[in-house]
Amino acid sequence: MKPITTLYPVNELFETIQGEGVFTGTPAIFLRLQGCPVGCPWCDTQHTWEKSADKQVDAQTMLTKTSATAEWAELTALQLLALFTEQGFSARHVVITGGEPAMFDLQELGETLEKAGYQLQIETSGTFALQVTADTWVTVSPKLDMPGGYLVRPDCMQRANEIKHPVAMQKHIDALDNLLQRCPPRSDAIIALQPISQRPRATQLAITTCIKRNWRLSVQLHKYLNIE
Ligand code: SF4
Repeated sequence: MKPITTLYPVNELFETIQGEGVFTGTPAIFLRLQGCPVGCPWCDTQHTWEKSADKQVDAQTMLTKTSATAEWAELTALQLLALFTEQGFSARHVVITGGEPAMFDLQELGETLEKAGYQLQIETSGTFALQVTADTWVTVSPKLDMPGGYLVRPDCMQRANEIKHPVAMQKHIDALDNLLQRCPPRSDAIIALQPISQRPRATQLAITTCIKRNWRLSVQLHKYLNIE
């Protein structure tokens, strides 16, 4: 058996309810990785952008953070698995998010967690080549024309089980249409619109478009419930 050696930079590890997309309402362990060069101006996890050596801490310090900070701890898949038990997590669904988790090779993490009975989901911008197991549920939230200059990759769009697109205005839907033409997804991919920041006009636009196109609506349930 191959030794488990890959180290993952973990910004946060917590259990909650998945508030977005197809798995909305599912109890989930969230594993937030450190690092993202995409640069979305509205990003609500900007503290994960830089992976600075001087912000590296031990696992206990990372776990007991009381606010969003750039501190991260380096852990292997087996160490993470042990932490799930130590923390008393009961969820069997693990959401790997960031930052941009596709910057890392998640194959070993996926294999280890799946062997232990977990189901994996990755939330990615679609701008990095995916290194995930065949059973990992891939949610691409395509980030187009962002300051970092990264392009959404056709191979990510083709691998996506779910394409979840933030919308506020018609131009965002037009941009998604262009992307779907340029990078066609698989025929069974689920397309969901997510109103930006619970704005009423954005929500109405998303509802109208989802009904017209037979797409899904993703409403960021956790923000309505005021949970993490
Ligand atoms: S890809 Fe995600 S983490 Fe990175 S800047 Fe955009 S919203 Fe933030």
